[in-house]
Amino acid sequence: MIPVNQPLLNGREKELLAECINSGWISSDGPFVGKFEQLFSAYIGVDHGVAVCNGTVALETALFAAGINKGDEVILPAFTIISCVLAVLRLGAVPVLVDVEPDTWNMDVAQIESKITSKTKGIMPVHIYGHPVDMDPLMQIAKKYKLIVIEDAAEAHGAEYKHQKCGSIGHIAAFSFYANKIITTGEGGMVLTKNKEMAERARSYRNLCFRPEKRFYHTELGNNYRMTNLQAAVGVAQIERIEEFVGIKRNLGEYYKEKFSLINGIKTQVEKPWAKTVYWMYCIELADSLGVNADDLMVALKQKGIEARPFFLGMHQQPVLQQLGLFAGEKYPVTERISRQGLYLPSGLALKEAQIDEVVSAVKVFVLKQRG
Ligand SMILES: *Cc1c(COP(=O)(O)O)cnc(C)c1O
Repeated sequence: MIPVNQPLLNGREKELLAECINSGWISSDGPFVGKFEQLFSAYIGVDHGVAVCNGTVALETALFAAGINKGDEVILPAFTIISCVLAVLRLGAVPVLVDVEPDTWNMDVAQIESKITSKTKGIMPVHIYGHPVDMDPLMQIAKKYKLIVIEDAAEAHGAEYKHQKCGSIGHIAAFSFYANKIITTGEGGMVLTKNKEMAERARSYRNLCFRPEKRFYHTELGNNYRMTNLQAAVGVAQIERIEEFVGIKRNLGEYYKEKFSLINGIKTQVEKPWAKTVYWMYCIELADSLGVNADDLMVALKQKGIEARPFFLGMHQQPVLQQLGLFAGEKYPVTERISRQGLYLPSGLALKEAQIDEVVSAVKVFVLKQRG
């Protein structure tokens, strides 16, 4: 089986985990948490990092820190993981969708302005599959309407927009360190910001909103979203190799791209001239003209021992969100098409070129069969 992903844990992970166990520092009090925050925020290029227990709560914590409140509207792409909408809903705020671009599959920035109302407070761009959103026009809109920009950079560790790292461009950002992300802590996440007050609010929210001056006296509702020292130890070992990992991902992506450029009926995510994508996952979209969808291809690949994963389903198409009365009657045609026709292929850090050849050839055989 060629797995869709596998983490590389063959650096100092074991050594640093042993340090935690030998010292007894296994909960969130312990030296690796602060160290990981400092190393990762420095890598991204911001002053403050607040480690949390996963990427979904990193988004929620970032929204809280940014001052998003009940009834506020937050604009985000229809094509994303449900974590984004869940985070908005958890704060009592209202998610508002825009469609994505057909070539980058990222939030279509040109559609944002038409969705702004007097209640709009934030924009949440999601750097999908490691390709940056077009941030300059987005930040201009944010400035014009005084909106907070919360970047979801969970798939974009090391990706760059005009030589600036994703996660350092908006007002605040969220990352995930789930096992399939570019660096991992098993489960884990981080909120990053240049803003000291927002960082303090994030720290407070992840730790039950304890007040520094008066412990066990609370004026806001917080959560226990702390990262453990064990997770952070793995994170410290991982970040020592982040440049290497980003390099591997880019090489795999370029190799796939070159092979797929020769196959009609297959579309891949473009890399814009201003972007450095990190190919978090290598993705393809099947042309409608082939008369088949991503599920059909996944079945064919599985028969050949190749794992793949479907694209996200549009937020407006999620039964649970429809039941809440959200997005009624809304249509996002690009999201709907890529949800049906898109999938991602094996993209693990240990993947070999010979395995990519196998994957591409299996896709090619499938495509040629459809064309007859
Ligand atoms: C993985 C991911 C998240 C959520 O991260 P978890 O750590 O799995 O909670 C959020 N946003 C995007 C875009 C992701 O890919």
